[in-house]
Parts: sequence; C-alpha cells; structure tokens
Amino acid sequence: MRVGIGVDVHRFSSDEKRELWLGGLLWSEESGLEGHSDSDVAAHAICDALLSAVSGKGLAGACSLPKP
Ligand SMILES: [Zn+2]
Repeated sequence: MRVGIGVDVHRFSSDEKRELWLGGLLWSEESGLEGHSDSDVAAHAICDALLSAVSGKGLAGACSLPKP
C-alpha cells in the first residue's frame, strides 16, 4: 500500500471578482484565493496526495495545473 501527503496554501485575493472554489464547489458568497489556477486548495491537496503516492516523490505541485 502506498500513502501520499498533500498540502496546499493560497492567500485570499484582493480581487473582489475572484471566485472561491473549494473541493470542486463554487462558494459564490465568499472571497476567492490568489493563484494562476482555480486555487482550489482542497482539490490541489488531494491531487498532490494522490500524485505523491503514485510517484513516491514528495509533493507534486497541483497548483500549476490549468483551470478545467
Ligand atoms: Zn493550489
């Protein structure tokens, strides 16, 4: 059995139009997070955990993946 650990952090955006996506869900009443992607910290942490478990090489960096 392989185990992976995923961690992701984004700061809150000063752009009031930035949407907040967490776990693949849009939280339309909340302030969004900074980032070049969708900044979904929950999805990024899960992806990092899965990728690190598969690759066996630490954190994989899901933040750099493009928006869906
Ligand atoms: Zn991220």
